[in-house]
Amino acid sequence: MPKMLLIAATVLAAAALAGCGGGRTGAESREVSKGSKEKAMIEKVSKSDAQWREALTPQQYSVARQKGTEHAFSSEYYNFKGHGVYTCVCCGLELFSSEAKYESGTGWPSFYEPVKKDHVVEKPDHSLLTTRTEVLCARCDAHLGHVFDDGPEPTRLRYCMNGAALKFVPREKP
Ligand code: FE
Repeated sequence: MPKMLLIAATVLAAAALAGCGGGRTGAESREVSKGSKEKAMIEKVSKSDAQWREALTPQQYSVARQKGTEHAFSSEYYNFKGHGVYTCVCCGLELFSSEAKYESGTGWPSFYEPVKKDHVVEKPDHSLLTTRTEVLCARCDAHLGHVFDDGPEPTRLRYCMNGAALKFVPREKP
């Protein structure tokens, strides 16, 4: 309910600003509404451990909620070439576009960038006697995989993801 009120208030504020006329005011109102939309998109989702367990398959739960790793070449997505977007299996946040997917040869679905930088959170991971960078969903903290700096251009990053933490949603090519 407060979110609805916030959106309604933003719409009214944007309408009021736009009503003032003038290019600059129009630009400001667009910024206001864009900013609040972004905020709403990454509003946190949290559930109890029991709720996650209930909502997910055992493998999805083990990977996404317990920081597990699926076996290489086991995911239906590692060599999948459909056009669309890979969303978080837990909360549905859009994470990676098929446009940024590439064949890394590792056996895990790999991408050179997320859909939006703020849709993922990156954290140092000191497990396995080395320091890696863990990648989590910014909305529900699901463990997705790790990011390495041996990817292709244009970012040279390799987001090495667990297919079990992702859900592919097909989209028409623009
Ligand atoms: Fe999520």
